[in-house]
Amino acid sequence: MLGALGAALALPVLAQSVKITPLGGIDGEFCPQDRALVFEDPNGTRVLYDPGRTVAGAGDPRLGKIDIILVSHMHGDHVGNAHNKAPNSGSCEAPDMSVSAMPNSSAVNIAVAKKSRIVTGSEMPPFFAAKLKANGGDPANSMLARFGGSVTVGGVRIATVTAMHSNGVDPDYLGGELGRAMKEAGIAGDVGLATGYIVQFSNGLVAYLSGDTGITADQDLVVRQHYNAKLAVMNIGDGFTTGPAEAAYVINDLVKPASVIASHANEVATVGGKVRPGSKTERFIKAAKVPVHLPLSGKTMEFDASGKCTAGC
Ligand SMILES: [Zn+2]
Repeated sequence: MLGALGAALALPVLAQSVKITPLGGIDGEFCPQDRALVFEDPNGTRVLYDPGRTVAGAGDPRLGKIDIILVSHMHGDHVGNAHNKAPNSGSCEAPDMSVSAMPNSSAVNIAVAKKSRIVTGSEMPPFFAAKLKANGGDPANSMLARFGGSVTVGGVRIATVTAMHSNGVDPDYLGGELGRAMKEAGIAGDVGLATGYIVQFSNGLVAYLSGDTGITADQDLVVRQHYNAKLAVMNIGDGFTTGPAEAAYVINDLVKPASVIASHANEVATVGGKVRPGSKTERFIKAAKVPVHLPLSGKTMEFDASGKCTAGC
């Protein structure tokens, strides 16, 4: 009796899907600067991950309501030191990054305009709290989820995990005498370690967002064995992060999700929405043992609790 009731209550929840919409540079393509994804929980909570340079600032009409902003680390192509004038300005080969977001960052400008919470780990929250305060926002909207802990906002549980990367703050965010002196000396500000994220949605889907990272033992020990992530968003660009071969090893042998969304390819990955032959993205797709979905800008994908794409892929 109880079992039947439990199943009746649980089924509609499991059948619900998380909608993921890439906000890239050019509609229908996967371009060099593309990082930003909007996750929409079945309960309506909307999460923006790494706005980067392809979200056209707080006025980008594609944003809509944004409840939570995740920033994996402080590099300009993730927090957004500059951005395009509007979606589809520039080209996939030559992205428009002509609008400066300094010294605020695009993440902060969007958070102030949308009254979003910024959830970060490491020692990034005080930086964002100060920026929110300086721009008329509420510093309390900068929230901490440090390694091993989590916060729940709008029914979405957020934790941070290690990312093997760097996380220097460009002195241009500081400005003034100190910023100039640091810049001359070639020294970045310190806000602790770069991060990835584990995001658990209300339908039960657990997603791993790698951020910029190399291969880490935590991808097995923490991301898979503890959090049991079923969907991965994996950076594949090489040079700055894991390349296609390393990213495929992470997916095949460490995280072992049901499916993966390629990210941060730093190349023209698609032409007409199809994978460009000879691209890093093609190499990753061939090397990965699970379905690889392309983050085509503006194209919404839906994922169920098991990490399977149920629509839009
Ligand atoms: Zn980086």
